[in-house]
Amino acid sequence: MPQVCVTQRIFPEAIELLESENLSHSYHESDQALDPQDLKEAVKGCEGLICLITDKVDGGLMEHAHNLKVIANVAVGYDNIDVNAASERGIIVTNTPDVLTETTADLTFALLLAAARRIPEADTYMRSGQFKEFKLYQPQIGVDVFGKTLGIVGMGRIGTAVARRGALGFGMKVLYTANSPKPEAEKELGATQVTFEKLLKESDFISINTPSTLETHHIFTLKEFKQMKRTAFLINAARGPIVKEDDLAEALESGLIQGAGIDVFEREPLIDPKLAQLKKHVVVAPHIGSASVETRRNMSLMAAQNVISALKGQCPPNALNSEVWKNVS
Ligand code: NAP
Repeated sequence: MPQVCVTQRIFPEAIELLESENLSHSYHESDQALDPQDLKEAVKGCEGLICLITDKVDGGLMEHAHNLKVIANVAVGYDNIDVNAASERGIIVTNTPDVLTETTADLTFALLLAAARRIPEADTYMRSGQFKEFKLYQPQIGVDVFGKTLGIVGMGRIGTAVARRGALGFGMKVLYTANSPKPEAEKELGATQVTFEKLLKESDFISINTPSTLETHHIFTLKEFKQMKRTAFLINAARGPIVKEDDLAEALESGLIQGAGIDVFEREPLIDPKLAQLKKHVVVAPHIGSASVETRRNMSLMAAQNVISALKGQCPPNALNSEVWKNVS
């Protein structure tokens, strides 16, 4: 019986790491997620599980995995895992924080700039031979980013890294929301904690950087878009269900807001058909927030390291429910 189940293709260095620790494994070396029934079969008897965000790891699955001690998500977000169900069964859950922070902040800012300056539209125009001569009123005339107001919804690791790019690189005024104040970011970046309503009202660009939870589900709907500036942009490189996607499409189409940069979708991998039609000041990407070679390799290694620690009898470095460890050890 393999000790570790790896549900999808990860970086080979992480598999080598498991092997160097003499951990036997069943490796589903594919870029396609297993269907739920096959996932149940794959996990049966394993002590460690390395999974991706497209693997739904709920209590039903855990019931089939009596030996399971650790679930290591290759992601910082863990909305695909029922952590309470794991805790009830004494299973430790881990994620991959920090290693992807700067990469995801880069992508967030890339979406912001691309939407503001209409880069995909310009690219299509150029490649299709439509550029005949320079004009003052070019078809892709955009809006300034420098010196504008950036609203960060969720001033955590990634939110702060986005704010740093805005404040220090682009002279932006930073407003933010979070569960608790962030005095360091206030000092370093001149950021101000405000109510969600004030952030909606005053921001030129809003970046969503909260986790996807029951509390953050659909915090952006038509009601919130109506409170934003008509010139504002929404950037979402967090999770799709935080935004009601058909409302976003409607808000963009009707001019309630000006633009959007979206990396994550409510019904991923699907995109709202109306949103897919919108091009002006709208940029979409297929969930590539952390997608650089270095970062995805580090995420893979971190997940493997978390499993190795747990199976060696140590509390994994990135345990989300470390209280479970205290109870079982
Ligand atoms: P983090 O450090 O835990 O930051 C999350 C922040 O959200 C915290 O500051 C938290 O406030 C705040 N927050 C939680 N609920 C809130 C609410 N209702 N209203 C306002 N703020 C709220 O997490 P992170 O590492 O920055 O990652 C954030 C999320 O990004 C992940 O959960 C993941 O889903 C997503 N992500 C996406 C990609 C991608 O590929 N697109 C890549 C990486 C991560 P407190 O600090 O006060 O608790």
